[in-house]
Amino acid sequence: MLNIILFGPPGAGKGTQSERLLNHFGLNHLSTGDLLRAERAAGTELGLKADEYIKKGALVPDEVVIGMVRNKIAATPDSKGFIFDGFPRTIAQGEALDLMLEEFQAPINIVLGLEVSEEELVKRLLLRGQSSGRADDQSEATIRNRYQVYLNETSPLVEFYQGQGKYKSIPGEGAMEGIFDHLVRSIQEV
Ligand code: AMP
Repeated sequence: MLNIILFGPPGAGKGTQSERLLNHFGLNHLSTGDLLRAERAAGTELGLKADEYIKKGALVPDEVVIGMVRNKIAATPDSKGFIFDGFPRTIAQGEALDLMLEEFQAPINIVLGLEVSEEELVKRLLLRGQSSGRADDQSEATIRNRYQVYLNETSPLVEFYQGQGKYKSIPGEGAMEGIFDHLVRSIQEV
């Protein structure tokens, strides 16, 4: 199995680049944001509760997202591997993921961190908000809050994965094609 984490703040391009990498390497996509939005669209209790956090730009509680990821991995038994997009977002989630993958003897191979400045992220998300219909992409205040949440709760994972020798930083500004090639080369070197 090839397990990859596409890491970075909201708006770094994780979703866009994941889609292309999936096709290139024949992997499964595991985006907790997509799973949560699907729950909300289906009107489940989990989805409606999660929406309260998402609208504010806060994180959904660890046990909820960890449970969803566990279900998704269990439901995809013959996978060649996953691209984790938007997960993990806390150290507790990172630790839980390591434990889950131990069961499959298929650890995370590489963590690719897309680096983009705060001003560029805000610009991209406001633009995306014009077509995405996502409530959390509509106001600059919510977007900046999501970035603060990233700094406070998610960015400590950089050190966590550096400690495991798995973190690789990738410049995330500039032409999409060039960033994709850089990601592909980094994965091929694993
Ligand atoms: P995303 O589509 O990855 O930008 O996620 C949208 C929103 O869903 C986030 O701002 C959080 O509110 C929630 N969310 C997605 N993934 C996670 C996660 N791993 N942990 C907690 N909340 C999450």
